[in-house]
Amino acid sequence: MFDKVLIANRGEIALRILRACRDLGIKTVAVHSQADRDLLHVRLADESICIGPAKPLDSYLNIPAIISAAEVVDAVAIHPGYGFLSEKADFAERVEKSGFIFIGPNSDTIKVMGDKLSAINAMKKVGVPCLPGSNGPLSGDLTLAKKIAKQVGYPIILKAAGGGGGRGMRVVNTEASLKPSISLTQQEAAAAFQDDRIYIEKYLENPRHVEFQVLMDNFGNGVHLGERDCSLQRRHQKVLEESPAFGIEPCVREELGALCIEACREIGYRGVGTFEFLYEKGEFFFIEMNTRIQVEHPVTEMVTGIDLVKEQLKVAAGEELKISQKDVTYNGHAIECRINAEDAKTFRPSPGKVTYFHPPAGPGVRVDSHLYTGYSVPPNYDSLVAKLICHGKTREEAIVRARNALGEFVIEGICTNISLHLDLVSDATFMSGNHTINYLESKLR
Ligand code: ADP
Repeated sequence: MFDKVLIANRGEIALRILRACRDLGIKTVAVHSQADRDLLHVRLADESICIGPAKPLDSYLNIPAIISAAEVVDAVAIHPGYGFLSEKADFAERVEKSGFIFIGPNSDTIKVMGDKLSAINAMKKVGVPCLPGSNGPLSGDLTLAKKIAKQVGYPIILKAAGGGGGRGMRVVNTEASLKPSISLTQQEAAAAFQDDRIYIEKYLENPRHVEFQVLMDNFGNGVHLGERDCSLQRRHQKVLEESPAFGIEPCVREELGALCIEACREIGYRGVGTFEFLYEKGEFFFIEMNTRIQVEHPVTEMVTGIDLVKEQLKVAAGEELKISQKDVTYNGHAIECRINAEDAKTFRPSPGKVTYFHPPAGPGVRVDSHLYTGYSVPPNYDSLVAKLICHGKTREEAIVRARNALGEFVIEGICTNISLHLDLVSDATFMSGNHTINYLESKLR
């Protein structure tokens, strides 16, 4: 096992990684920005290094600063968490070339799967179902784009090949709006992702978002850990997730899960990963793969009893996977509420000092959070401050526990979206399991 791991992230996920390292007897190094000296994991880590100013570009996205820190502390491996540099193939490459282990797939795999277009092509090769579309970047030939859009059938969605975080997407309903939509999406993609390649995909009007978790070692051994439903979204960003997904038959789960593993073997995938699908009228369509640990990984952990971050560390250290598919069993149901520091109505970020923090507890209740009383949430980063994960024998029990736990949760000094979650876990459509990706936005309108 590794002697020392550098955690190239912040917030709840940095703390989650630190705890997994400690469970495995690994020493930890926290790298942090000037605004993040008081983060809980910085205090708990064996060593910590300030890598730059608050601005992400100068700290958490500053590759030379992170590599230098790893050299100074003599770390063996670097864990990228999620967001920031976690899916940047050039970061993984620089980590590898500098003699450290990148905790994730190798940089070539990230290159293929991090690009939505090449990922779709790789998936098609192994028979994973994808949506009809342009099968490649739009060339600038408007007549051709019109022809493709017509063949696919309106509505279509324009998507940035290098997109992420719910950005770089635009729905087009008519041929008349195709031209301006293409140039706007291209401009946005170039500005946000430094990559102006966009493509056409069929837009599904009322699907659910269902994704499969996989875990692979370096020797081609792998398992899937079932699926999560992440349909409750706002602006294409997940708000509440659950596992298993409502109404998915075990035989369908095993079939698609096995196909995901086959795809992983084909591309030489290593580590944890997620295959994201849209699910409509009983059919699955692949949209993208995330080559890292995800925010919503705890619901899978609660249901399968498998610690994904520990497994991720073990396979990155070259250990052979000890879990086989028949060892993966699904116990009950889990729900995760993403608690953000934001106004529950306007969604405006609400940084500031937490004057009182009291997380809920009790059977089946887990809180992944870096907050503590007296901590100041800086304005520079993502507004996620806590994840409440509730497990129950049934979906109903998990929902009741989430309702009770949300009622117990006290975060004072900043605004949070706890009241929105309280509303959601009592919502009749959510409770019936019939919600799709459009439901939350229509409810908020
Ligand atoms: P990102 O990488 O930004 O997260 P994704 O490709 O994962 O983007 O899509 C995010 C969300 O956008 C999906 O969960 C879904 O709600 C919506 N979406 C993406 N593609 C489509 C599509 N073809 N039809 C309908 N909705 C889509």
